[in-house]
Amino acid sequence: MNAEMITGRSGQCLCGGVRIHAASLPAHMHACHCSMCRRNSGSAGMTVVVAHADLRIEGAEHITTYPSSDWAARSFCARCGAGLWYRLTVPDAETADYFLSVGILDDLTGLSLNQEIYIDQKPAGYAFAGDHDRLTGDEFEALLQASPEGVSHDDL
Ligand SMILES: [Zn+2]
Ligand SMILES: [Zn+2]
Repeated sequence: MNAEMITGRSGQCLCGGVRIHAASLPAHMHACHCSMCRRNSGSAGMTVVVAHADLRIEGAEHITTYPSSDWAARSFCARCGAGLWYRLTVPDAETADYFLSVGILDDLTGLSLNQEIYIDQKPAGYAFAGDHDRLTGDEFEALLQASPEGVSHDDL
């Protein structure tokens, strides 16, 4: 991983039942326009990738995890409904990275958008400004398949 990193960020769901602390996270966030992220988040799914070892979670008893596909699951607070993250369930659901919803962070200072994916599914009625990568679903999936270990930080 060679991305610029931020250290020590906290976050919480809407009701505060779930709190997180990320020891380290990249300074880059991603926006996904796929139909699942859209339904889950209400618009584009905006996430930042936090390594399993770097995320501490409090209030796990409030978390419900929904298996949204054969290869990923999405977690939310069962008390307030706030979306928390999604994780890949293959190859190893236990140690998978967290694609943390950026909105749950207490402080988004220093995070910039560096990639949009499934841009071909983005509704015409809104767009993110800025000069960054914009990949179609096909381009993104080709990138995933080109990676021998599956999905890693550097792919996303
Ligand atoms: Zn909550
Ligand atoms: Zn998506």
